[in-house]
Amino acid sequence: MARYTGPVCRQCRREGLKLFLKGTKCLTDKCPLEHRNYPPGQHGQRRVKVTEYGLRLREKQKLRRIYGVLERQFRNYFYRATRMPGLTGENLVKLLERRLDNVVYRMGFASSRREARQMVRHGHFMVNGRKVNIPSYLVRPGDVIEVREKSRGMVRIQESLELAEHRGTYPWLEVDVEGKKGVFKTIPQLDEVAIPVDVSLIVELYSK
Ligand code: SF4
Repeated sequence: MARYTGPVCRQCRREGLKLFLKGTKCLTDKCPLEHRNYPPGQHGQRRVKVTEYGLRLREKQKLRRIYGVLERQFRNYFYRATRMPGLTGENLVKLLERRLDNVVYRMGFASSRREARQMVRHGHFMVNGRKVNIPSYLVRPGDVIEVREKSRGMVRIQESLELAEHRGTYPWLEVDVEGKKGVFKTIPQLDEVAIPVDVSLIVELYSK
């Protein structure tokens, strides 16, 4: 399965904002953005005039990188969003929010979406009592996501849950920390998700 294998922090530097892709490191002053807040590469510190296309492209890249989705899959989500009732930009975020790796991260069982993706691939989670190892699996309202019995003692899950306390809770999720399980109560609205991306620019980009 294809995935991005390059330097992760480079993606945040390119977008000029914290995308929180590395778990604990993102919360410390080891975060490269704290002391090198300019795009990576030899010409990173040059001033560049951003075109309208460039602006839209950056918004798309931000959203894609936040959720750790590759280009083709992201485009597929977009076309799926256009066929759903309602606003395409909102639908796109709703689809991304329903990904199992994202839900695992939001529930606090992993310190980043990247880690959540790996843990899902390794079969540490169940959805409604059945093992699911597909990170892109779309969770439905009412689904119960649970750490498998054999994985409950994992230190990284405990550490992630402690780290997640700093992130706060989400109204569309119900998490039982002791029981290491949670319920995806409802699909969140765009304003609840509060991502630093202007989704209307992404719609414009793909509508050209
Ligand atoms: Fe981004 Fe986290 Fe790396 Fe900072 S430490 S640049 S927030 S991935």
